[in-house]
Amino acid sequence: MKYLSTRGGMDPAGYGEILLEGLAPDGGLVVPEELPRVSAETREAWRGLDYPSLATEVLSLFATDIPRDDLARMCRDAYAVRPENFVDPAVVPLVPLGDVDPRLSLVGLSEGPTLAFKDMAMQFLGQSLEYVLRRSGRTINILGATSGDTGSAAEYALRGKEGIGVFMLSPQGRMSAFQRAQMYSLTDENIHNIAVAGVFDDCQNLIKQLSGDLDFKRHHRLGTVNSINLGRISAQIVYYFWAWLRQTDALDAAERETAQVSMTVPSGNFGNILSGHYARQMGVPIRRLVLAANENNVLDEFFRTGIYAPRASAETFLTSSPSMDISKASNLERFIFDLLGRDPERLAAAWRELDETGRIDLSDEQPRFAEEFGIVSGSSTHADRVATIREVHETSGLVIDPHTADGVKVAREHLEDRVPMLVLETAKPAKFPEIVVEAIGASDPLPEHLSELLDLPQRVTAMPNDEVQLREYVEARAV
Ligand SMILES: *Cc1c(COP(=O)(O)O)cnc(C)c1O
Repeated sequence: MKYLSTRGGMDPAGYGEILLEGLAPDGGLVVPEELPRVSAETREAWRGLDYPSLATEVLSLFATDIPRDDLARMCRDAYAVRPENFVDPAVVPLVPLGDVDPRLSLVGLSEGPTLAFKDMAMQFLGQSLEYVLRRSGRTINILGATSGDTGSAAEYALRGKEGIGVFMLSPQGRMSAFQRAQMYSLTDENIHNIAVAGVFDDCQNLIKQLSGDLDFKRHHRLGTVNSINLGRISAQIVYYFWAWLRQTDALDAAERETAQVSMTVPSGNFGNILSGHYARQMGVPIRRLVLAANENNVLDEFFRTGIYAPRASAETFLTSSPSMDISKASNLERFIFDLLGRDPERLAAAWRELDETGRIDLSDEQPRFAEEFGIVSGSSTHADRVATIREVHETSGLVIDPHTADGVKVAREHLEDRVPMLVLETAKPAKFPEIVVEAIGASDPLPEHLSELLDLPQRVTAMPNDEVQLREYVEARAV
């Protein structure tokens, strides 16, 4: 399998090469040359596999330049069931919400070390990055900015990894107590937490300044593991296969051949649902992919009208489902590439339109979003989240997090007769105590193995919003 750029300006490259890169060299996004197809027969042959074995099967279709035994070992390590890793014996459990609606279930994607779905991809990326670097005798320094889940998932996946340094910037005083404890309590030598006096945008600007200095970037081999990384996208495809298989386990052979399910995805940068879009094209029988947004509804607007109009950061609301607070959706370019017949020239024209007018008008294509690609959308508000968390708790006894609540709210607007609806659970409620208390009057306790996290000593370097200091800090500690 080879990989190309959406903008057409990259020589075909292997999986091992694209893992180390964010953007393609021509400014586009890396996409598979062609998506592999999985037949109904193969799907059934995979039914008996545990999660790491299924991951090996799916990922071997993408990572064709990694020997299968090596890939299998990486998947075993990434998705191992033990207290500091994945805690549920299934890795990804399906939890019926039958008391809310008989068609609804949750897909548990937040059983990993940082209690959010980013672990699903990061855990594999940590394994595969270390492997690819070792194979080529290279090292990398990951420079990232986080206001929450991404930073901690990256640090837990990359801690102690050979040949990898991690420099993670976070805005001082703006992370929750749990998020701080999670990141700053890590003592691994290759993990560097830097609390910048400023907001998240300041952190991102510092990173842009450092990686914009191409000499500095090359000399210290700076890299990123952000949500456009295709390694992450490929690892997320696995759980769409897994969810369909588990949902249809109880059916007989004839029913399985025609069984469709719909899936709702709480969305921000369009990474998770893009993996669902790829899984559907590979052969997972998904009827509808439902995109759920919060008040930052730029993607809901796009799927309803066909007009993509990114917002300025100043127009981006701070909401109670913060991991979905986006002004533009980095991964949408890959969907638009498919929509425009995978034609780099048409894609480039769309991006020119965006540069010139601030928007892309694809309203003529809008009917195809649902008809051809199965994608529909909806959005929710703080009041919706509170009401949904409360109602799910009252009817089923389960506590869900605010992002999953956005999903459940929008999923219920898209239920169809006899079609099961799976909502991807993207985080655990213990990470977001404020809204949970508002909804049900009490917070959800941390899982047992994390109960002492808040008391652990923390290690973080405070720094002014100053490029020169950051540069010196990285220079002194890069691997
Ligand atoms: C990152 C994140 C999302 C959004 O996922 P995208 O891949 O950016 O669309 C949703 N919920 C939670 C909890 C997240 O951490």
